[in-house]
Amino acid sequence: MINKVKGTYDILPEDSSKWQELEQVISNVSRIFNFKEIRTPIFEVSDLFHRGVGESTDIIKKETYDFKDRGGRLITLRPEGTASVVRSVIENKLYAQANQPLKLYYQGSMFRYERPQKGRYRQFRQFGAEALGSNSPLIDAEIINYASTILESLRIKDIIIKINSLGGSESKDIYKEKLVEYLKPNITGLCNDCQRRYEENPLRVLDCKIDRENPILVDAPKPLDYLNDEDRYHFDQVISALDAIQLKYVIDKNLVRGLDYYTNTVFEIDANVSTLGAQKTLVGGGRYNNLVKSLDGPETPAVGFAFGMERLLIAIEAVKQQTPKEFIHCYMIALGDNAQNEALKIVNELRHGGLICDYDFFNKNLKGKFKQSERLNPMFNLILGEDELAEQVINVKITKTGIQKRVPLNGLYQFLLNSIRNVSSDSCSGNCNSCDEC
Ligand code: ATP
Ligand code: MG
Repeated sequence: MINKVKGTYDILPEDSSKWQELEQVISNVSRIFNFKEIRTPIFEVSDLFHRGVGESTDIIKKETYDFKDRGGRLITLRPEGTASVVRSVIENKLYAQANQPLKLYYQGSMFRYERPQKGRYRQFRQFGAEALGSNSPLIDAEIINYASTILESLRIKDIIIKINSLGGSESKDIYKEKLVEYLKPNITGLCNDCQRRYEENPLRVLDCKIDRENPILVDAPKPLDYLNDEDRYHFDQVISALDAIQLKYVIDKNLVRGLDYYTNTVFEIDANVSTLGAQKTLVGGGRYNNLVKSLDGPETPAVGFAFGMERLLIAIEAVKQQTPKEFIHCYMIALGDNAQNEALKIVNELRHGGLICDYDFFNKNLKGKFKQSERLNPMFNLILGEDELAEQVINVKITKTGIQKRVPLNGLYQFLLNSIRNVSSDSCSGNCNSCDEC
C-alpha cells in the first residue's frame, strides 16, 4: 500500500463541507471589504522566494521544497503567498491600474518542510490578503480589521490582536545595530536557536519562545523605542484608527515576525483555543514597503496578512462545541393592529441591512409570544406597541442580559449593530448603550 506523504492529509467527503463553509465566509467578508481574488501558480522560480522571503528566514534556510525541472530550471513549491502575488502584480503591471490601492486576496496550498504536528503540516492552506499602493496607516488598520472580521464572522471570539512597529528601513537599521551591540556580550546566555538567529537575523532573537522570560530579552532594546518621527507618526495613526473602530489590541514590543520583508506595522492574532496546542497564531501580517522594489517593481508600499486555514478550522470546531445553539438577531413582536404593518416594515429594513430576523405570526398572548421567541434564540426581542408607535420608538430587550431599552426607530439599526458587537464580544467597549454600565 502506498501511503500519503508525511505532513499531508486527505480532505474526506465528510470534512469537505467544513472547508466549503470556511471558503464561503472568506469570500463574503472579502466582498464586504472589497478585496478581489487573485490566483497564482503553486510553483515559481526559486529565486523569487530567495529574494522575496529572505535568505536568512527559517522558511528559506530549511523549509522549502526545491527541485530542478526537466529543463534544468530551479523551481520551488510556494511556501507562502505574498512573493507570488507581488511577482504577479509586477509582471502584469497591476500597479499601473487607475484603481488604487490594489486590494487582493488569495487562498491555496503552501508547502514547507517542517516537523508535522497539530496545526502544522507540510502541505497546508493559507488565506491571505495584500493591499498594495498606499502607505496610509488607515490601510494597516483596514487589513487588521479585515482579519479580525473574518474571525468575528466565524464566531472565534477569544482572540488577542498583538501589534508592533519595526520602523522603516532607516529606523530598522539603527535598531538592529543597537540590538546587536546589546546582545553581543549576552548572547551565550540565550538558547541555541537565539545564538543562530543572532548571527543570521538578529531581530528574530526578540520573539524567541524559549527565552521569552529571560531578563536578557526582557531588558533588550525594543524597536518601538527607535522609531524615527515619520515611523512613530505612522504607528500612532494606526493605533488611533484601531481605536476609532473599537478593535481591541495589545502592543507587543517583542513582536517581530519571521519574514525579512516586514517594515513598520507587524501584527499577529492568537486564539485562546486549547485544541490548537502550541500553534495558537491564526494569522500574521504587516507592512512591507520595500518588497515590490526589491523584486524589480516600482516603489510600492504594501501591507497584508496570511491565515493558516487548518488552524482556523480547529478553532471553529472548538467554538462550535461551545455554542451549538442556532441563533437569530431579532425577533419582532407587534402588539395591536396598528403596529403590525409598521413592525413588518421594520423587519424588512433590518433584513436588508443583513440582520437575521423573524416575526411573530401568531395572535397568542404575550407569554405565548415569548415562548416562541425562546425557541428561536434571538439576540434581541423587538416589541412594538401602539404607544411606542405614536412616539416613534421601540422596546429592545437584549435577551442575554434581560436589559430593556426604548430606542428611537430612526436609530434602531445602528443601535442593534453596536449591540451585536458588544454582546458577541462579552464585554462592552463603553458605548453599546445596551449593558448595565451604559
Ligand atoms: P509559525 O510561527 O507558527 O511557524 P509563521 O511565522 O511561520 O508561523 P507565517 O509564515 O506568517 O507563519 O504564516 C501565516 C500563518 O500560516 C501562520 O500564522 C499559521 O497560522 C499558518 N502556518 C504557517 N506554517 C504553517 C504550517 N506548516 N502548517 C499549517 N499552518 C501554518
Ligand atoms: Mg513557521
